[in-house]
Amino acid sequence: AQPVLEPQSRVQVDLSVFGQNVRTLKRLIPSDTRFCAVVKANAYGHGGIQCAKTALENGSHFLAVARISEAVAMRDAGITAPILLLGEALPEQVSFLATHDIRASVADIQTAKALSAAAQALNTRLNIHLKLDTGMGRLGFLHPGVVTPKYGEAAGIRQAGDIADLKGLRVEGAYTHFAKADVIDKTHAKGQLTRFNDMVAMLADMGIRPEIRHAANSAAVLELPEAHFDMVRPGVAMYGMAPSHEVDITRHKLAPVMSITAKVIYVKAVPENFSVSYGCTHVTTTPTVIATVPIGYADGYSRLLSNQGQMLVKGKKAPIAGRVTMDFTMIDVGHIPGVKPGDDVIILGPQGNERISADDIAGLTGTINYEVTTGLTGRMPLSYL
Ligand code: PLP
Repeated sequence: AQPVLEPQSRVQVDLSVFGQNVRTLKRLIPSDTRFCAVVKANAYGHGGIQCAKTALENGSHFLAVARISEAVAMRDAGITAPILLLGEALPEQVSFLATHDIRASVADIQTAKALSAAAQALNTRLNIHLKLDTGMGRLGFLHPGVVTPKYGEAAGIRQAGDIADLKGLRVEGAYTHFAKADVIDKTHAKGQLTRFNDMVAMLADMGIRPEIRHAANSAAVLELPEAHFDMVRPGVAMYGMAPSHEVDITRHKLAPVMSITAKVIYVKAVPENFSVSYGCTHVTTTPTVIATVPIGYADGYSRLLSNQGQMLVKGKKAPIAGRVTMDFTMIDVGHIPGVKPGDDVIILGPQGNERISADDIAGLTGTINYEVTTGLTGRMPLSYL
């Protein structure tokens, strides 16, 4: 047989499920509301370019990323759809926005002026989206109700009025981001909506009437229709994961897109009282069989899963024995007959009647599903179904 350099562990992304999730989410919004697929952070670890293209093929109008490099990579891959940069551009980076037709988020007047000058130098006009901080406390112009005289003034919404006069810019959008739309109690989110509507009215008074108002992340797409406005910006739900334990995505038939698989690379029968991995934190209590799996914390498989997590082999759960190391993790397969090198191991995803979800891993490592998939380091190749 021909030798094949098969990856020993890989991330599999089912683009047809991803496309279905996009269409499912689109059915929840009015037909004239635009859909902006949030594909930042390599599409939450799922492959930025492929997911961006699949989202566009399934009716997405816009893409959103967090870094200029992500937007430039999409343009280099031939993507021509509108791309919104959710992050701030530094003055020395604005020329990239102009040359690559990237819509900037603008949250202060200095950036607006630098952008306008860069656009004028290229004889063009840049579409921008004003970012309004209605209760997230991250980026954005502030509501007058929270502007403090000493430091807040420069970030107050009144400053945005000057943007109307900048010849290199066209204010296409205005948006905000929810801090707490993913909880059952929507009080904070509704307060943010009130401030957003207020601030959009203030912009209109200053002669700025953006065509695209937007606010909704996944949680708000699913549970806050009054936040749909002219465009929605879901991320996590497109990847088939829930924004939090308080948001039920199963009734919407959103399915996980990612699985992580590996091949057993080594198996050995060991006696009782045999210690496994660094620190000898796992010691066998009976004779058993230990299998070595080529995934470790250098792949983004958290060391916090040491002696905690599970993997699936032959449709059965196998507990992690000892510490997760940089490149390898050992599992106890003593209860699963016939495990041998080359057998499939599921680290994330379904096998038989069992499934390991990103939420399961997040629960054991004290984090959220978002971090489980975005935390993959890129050493395992992504393959697409
Ligand atoms: N909009 C902005 C500004 C974001 O930062 C994010 C992600 O954090 C999203 C939308 C998408 O959020 P989610 O993945 O919760 O749908």
